[in-house]
Amino acid sequence: MALTLVARGNELASSREQLRTLAATASCTPFHARMSSAALAPLMPTGIQVFQINVGKFCNQTCRHCHVDAGPDRTEQMSRETAQLCIRALAGTDIPTVDITGGAPELNANFRWLVEQARALGRHVMDRCNLSVLLVGPQKDLPDFLALHRVEVVASLPYFRPAQTDAQRGDKVFAKSIEALGLLNRLGYGREGSGLVLNLVHNPVGAFLPARQEGLEAQFKRELGRQHGIVFNRLYTITNMPIGRYLQFLLESGNYEGYMQRLANAFNPAAAAAVMCRHTISIGWDGTLYDCDFNQMLDLPLKHHAREHVHLSDLIDAEIAGNPIRVAGHCYGCTAGQGSSCGGALREAAE
Ligand code: SF4
Repeated sequence: MALTLVARGNELASSREQLRTLAATASCTPFHARMSSAALAPLMPTGIQVFQINVGKFCNQTCRHCHVDAGPDRTEQMSRETAQLCIRALAGTDIPTVDITGGAPELNANFRWLVEQARALGRHVMDRCNLSVLLVGPQKDLPDFLALHRVEVVASLPYFRPAQTDAQRGDKVFAKSIEALGLLNRLGYGREGSGLVLNLVHNPVGAFLPARQEGLEAQFKRELGRQHGIVFNRLYTITNMPIGRYLQFLLESGNYEGYMQRLANAFNPAAAAAVMCRHTISIGWDGTLYDCDFNQMLDLPLKHHAREHVHLSDLIDAEIAGNPIRVAGHCYGCTAGQGSSCGGALREAAE
């Protein structure tokens, strides 16, 4: 299994070093200037539809492209106290969707409690699932739990062939993913009329942009169905963000400047107008608020008026709205081509 940047003592484990690298990129116009020329600066929220909770960096896998630098050695985990604050804050809003992510969010001791509480408030819940976690011993009843609570499963599967998936996510991860998808399918996930939604997420294995979503979705459906009898609802394609372990891969392989140039050349004003940070609030494992999960990993907290750091406890007392979103060079990953978020209907507005 690969090691996290932290375990390797790599200098890119520091968000400051990642931001320094992004700021020194020679091959593209600064992102805020590009947004200005598209009349999108400052970038403003359009109304929060998604309450995204990142419960921590612990994961059973160490994928090569992870923007979180998650892995088995990471100890950052959301506590019950912060999970309770999440639910208190959520209850004070009418935000319809709760999106739980990590690491492997299911391995957090408060994951099931968060799901139950959010569902009790009548909110739609999404679980960002790496699939192999469904086979981890103590999690064997997890598919039943997810089905019982009508949780939408958004599952990473880079490709429909083992070689590409294992190269990115680890040895035998493809086989485990297929086994986990089979478990979900048997419960009705991904099947017409069941109401149990199973969406897959594809990201490219190398330093290139994803192919068009519709064509790839048809290919995934055909190949996974034919070879493994797997069904699912939608395939989302995401662009690899030049942060975390993917940034390290780009630099190590000599692809960094070329990749950034590719992203900048593919800048799409329609995708830029529909980036997920405009309708998402992102909560870190310690309760700090961010505009998105990527800013979270770069330690760029949400700004509220003159304050540089806003915590969940502030959200309980005040509406966090109307403040410009913090952007930097990594944002080119969200504005290239068709855009890059797996927010379903909201994303489709960019296409
Ligand atoms: S990286 Fe975050 S802040 Fe930047 S455009 Fe994407 S979602 Fe918005």
